[in-house]
Amino acid sequence: MAQLKLHFEELKASGDLPSPMGVALAIFELTRKPDVSLSEIAHVVKADPSLSGKLIKSANVLKAGTRSIASVSSAINLLGLDATRQLVVGFSILAGNRRGACKQFDYMRFWSKSLASAIIAQMLCERERVAQPEECFVGALLSDIGTLALATLYPVAYSEILSSGLSHQDQLEWEKARFETDHVELTAALLEDWMLPPMFADAASHHRNPESTDFPAGSREHSLCRIWHFADLLSEKFISGEKAIVRSMPELIDMAAKWDLDPDDFAALSNEAVAQWQEWSRVLEVPSRELPNFAEMIASLPQDEPNHEAKQNSHPEFPLRIMLAGDDMPALGRLSHEVSSLGHAIEIATNSKDALQLALDTDPQLIICDLSAGLDFVKALREVPAGRFVYLILLIPGKGEEGLVAAFGVGADAVMTKPYGAMELAARVLAGQRFVRMREELQSQSESLRNVAAELAVANRRAQRASLTDQLSGLPNRRYAIERLATEWKRTQILSCLLIDIDKFKSVNDIHGHDIGDEVISHLAQTLRGALRTQDAICRFGGEEFLAILPNANATAAMNCAERFRAAVEAARFAKGSIKLKLTVSIGVASRRPAMKNFETLIKTADKALYEAKKDGRNTVRLAKNG
Ligand code: GH3
Ligand code: MG
Ligand code: MG
Repeated sequence: MAQLKLHFEELKASGDLPSPMGVALAIFELTRKPDVSLSEIAHVVKADPSLSGKLIKSANVLKAGTRSIASVSSAINLLGLDATRQLVVGFSILAGNRRGACKQFDYMRFWSKSLASAIIAQMLCERERVAQPEECFVGALLSDIGTLALATLYPVAYSEILSSGLSHQDQLEWEKARFETDHVELTAALLEDWMLPPMFADAASHHRNPESTDFPAGSREHSLCRIWHFADLLSEKFISGEKAIVRSMPELIDMAAKWDLDPDDFAALSNEAVAQWQEWSRVLEVPSRELPNFAEMIASLPQDEPNHEAKQNSHPEFPLRIMLAGDDMPALGRLSHEVSSLGHAIEIATNSKDALQLALDTDPQLIICDLSAGLDFVKALREVPAGRFVYLILLIPGKGEEGLVAAFGVGADAVMTKPYGAMELAARVLAGQRFVRMREELQSQSESLRNVAAELAVANRRAQRASLTDQLSGLPNRRYAIERLATEWKRTQILSCLLIDIDKFKSVNDIHGHDIGDEVISHLAQTLRGALRTQDAICRFGGEEFLAILPNANATAAMNCAERFRAAVEAARFAKGSIKLKLTVSIGVASRRPAMKNFETLIKTADKALYEAKKDGRNTVRLAKNG
């Protein structure tokens, strides 16, 4: 690990690694200062009109559903420091690496796919509440940046690797041997260097194979890997176009089901992702493509074939697909006659070369080989993955034990010495039949076990989501609030929270009844949600009380935020039939202080401030005296 770090530092020192430039670099440095203000950052961003446009666009798209943002300051205010820094880095890397010297590296395809992947990941992240969606957007945009880095560092050598068409694993080994690092390692190191949360470097290392990680199922790390994995696959299909999508649609629908998305949901999500992809691609000047509506592509799929069981039932004695291979014509004729008379379907090859090809093309369940170079054929067959498990009976000339040892040695399952009798052949095929049947039963059992496990995972995730969500308002609930506050408490010193309580709410219940009271709470929850910045969370903390968690907000920022909530509620109107209500809230604000022992103290402090706000006449915001 230390060596990797050293190597990365060397690469960095070479100045050839992709890195944020100009205004982006200035902003990156600025956002690392603890006391920087949003207006300072806005001032620097404005020096770069193109970057300003992209940030405004980001705020509008990534905070969909709120009022539209027209100025750099509001965009940064809404996005917050961390997300602003991350987006600026992402956009700058993209802008600085649109082309390069590596001939085999398709820079535009790379960015177009990364962009699609970022959009999909962000949408899933929003659903699953795994990480901040805009962080997830930037993370996924850069989730394969190590390949671009290698193409930049070693354009000629990397071109060679890319043109050799290696598997992903082989490519990693090749890179390691040649460059002392590989693109996965490099991606993780770069993300860390650009200050993305550590979870993202982990996801970058493991998203190709999310099930092979040590992350516990259901953990945020595991979920993030799975999100990136899905985004990676789906974006690859986006890029490849309609035919590729239709071909892999059944697989995509299966994967989507694991996300608790039925085909309609999946189609809706994909259509939305494609629309956003096209929109973003104009802003970032990378290509995207037109794709047909996903619902229509799903509808155009052929209906399922009649299932396997139905096919089997029409042949009661479990007939096999048997391939016969022999180069002695009379012997082959006899063999084929005898095997067909046992009721099996046969395919015939008359030499070794055809035999191997036919075996790969027709996927037989059993092979009887009577070739003069039988041993070579078996050996070659066992070397290809598709030929490893097929049941194989080898006919050998009846000369002593040596032939037998050699036959089993190369991988035959059964051996018959020639001349053989019809009864022996029938018995050998019967044994093969039993073996094939058992293997297929085992396979289907393990498949259904996998399905059960997948369904269980979906149910668990659904339950997990439900257990953290308040039914009435749809906001995260008290349990989520406590967990989130505990996490943020560990993560950052700059942390504020707001306790928001509806004024004189009892009278709403008294006058209009409890049901209307419920609807009012739900309506007000939506108003609060609409006034929320992306990096913050608003939760229903109790009956008509809400808790807002504001990471990286000092007392001044928290007071601004509270005032925004207060004003939003005051401006909103609840209306149902003849009932028209104007509501107000009082808000207690508390910011973390070094003397505070734990996050419970922070909540208590906000509660005291709330009490002061109520005492001061309600519809008011109060900052706690000691926080
Ligand atoms: P204030 O906070 O301004 O001092 O006055 P208040 O009338 O809002 O007083 P308080 O906060 O003590 O009372 C809150 C009331 O909210 C009490 C309870 O009847 C009502 N309430 C709490 N939870 C729910 C709920 O889920 N649905 C409905 N309809 N009412 C609720
Ligand atoms: Mg109350
Ligand atoms: Mg109240």
